[in-house]
Amino acid sequence: MNSELLESRRLTSFRRRLFRWFASQQRDLPWRQNRDPYRIWVSEVMLQQTTVATVIPRFERFLTQFPTLSALANADEQEVLRSWEGLGYYRRARDLHRSAKLLVEQGGMLPDDPDVWRELPGVGRYILGAVLSQAFDRPMPIVEANTLRVLSRLFARRDDPTSTPMRKWLWEAAEALVPRKNAGTFNQAMMELGALVCMPSSPRCDECPVAADCGSFQAGLQNEIPAKAPRTVAEQVREVAVVVRDGSKALLVQRPATGRWARMWEFPHTTLEKKETLEHAARRLLTETLGIKATLGPEIMTIRHAVTRFRITMVCLDAQFRSGKIGDEHYLDARWLEPAEWASYPVSTPQRQLADELAKQSRQLRLF
Ligand code: SF4
Repeated sequence: MNSELLESRRLTSFRRRLFRWFASQQRDLPWRQNRDPYRIWVSEVMLQQTTVATVIPRFERFLTQFPTLSALANADEQEVLRSWEGLGYYRRARDLHRSAKLLVEQGGMLPDDPDVWRELPGVGRYILGAVLSQAFDRPMPIVEANTLRVLSRLFARRDDPTSTPMRKWLWEAAEALVPRKNAGTFNQAMMELGALVCMPSSPRCDECPVAADCGSFQAGLQNEIPAKAPRTVAEQVREVAVVVRDGSKALLVQRPATGRWARMWEFPHTTLEKKETLEHAARRLLTETLGIKATLGPEIMTIRHAVTRFRITMVCLDAQFRSGKIGDEHYLDARWLEPAEWASYPVSTPQRQLADELAKQSRQLRLF
């Protein structure tokens, strides 16, 4: 570690410059309005995998719907998932909801106690440090995408930041830098520096308040650090979704309790097997998975989206229900619903695109 920066006077000066910069440059973000631990917790969970720009309106909406810990704990999980729609990584919403229930069972407080927080589902080291430092000023470190980059550059560490030894080092470095007082502000300032100045490419070193302390800048290595992760090879996936209609209604099924999009709803869909045709996969879905007879109709739309390294092409087909009873082997529930009812059911982003398109077509063509 760059021991010079950790020397007491230098570190004090580093923190002072960082604080001064943050006081004048920080963005006006809704979760910075006060130190309410509930607001900070919700925002940090949302921000874990989602950009600030996407989170801002969703955060306001979520807080309007669930303004307090008890409001969240008392809500139905389906409501919470619906509110989370579009943010992705729905496990975060389920964990947040389960944690709220546990905290309410324990008295309804968001305590200044790391031991209580550690026991909550979805609370890892980052959430722990972020919430307790910002809400209660506990001198706890954080490491996330922005601070990881700032720390690697400050100390000129070329190592792969995803490797286990480097992760360990990053937490040690963050711990060494965080002050005993104003830890929350310090952590936010480090994140803000990464977001606004020490950006992934072309960092603005000439505007950086800590450039004098930065090992990478001094060595001219700021564009080479941190080491780039090897490019992941995208994998193409083909899927088919079937909109089974019966009169004015269409079939929505509830996904299993585990796996991707757990307990959320969808127009039934499946992944095509190797060399399988679209039509064969659609028939397999209808007869083997759903256990019904239906006449396949034309394509409604094709939706392309990405989930982690998978590039998914989902062709959505129309189908007319003929006979049969939906089996309960593959789905938790199955309902025949009018287009107006779909809005209250939590679905994935591509499935919402399909629902919106169908609702639009039904208005234009009176299909339902
Ligand atoms: Fe990042 Fe440049 Fe500042 Fe170093 S000097 S912390 S590389 S912005």
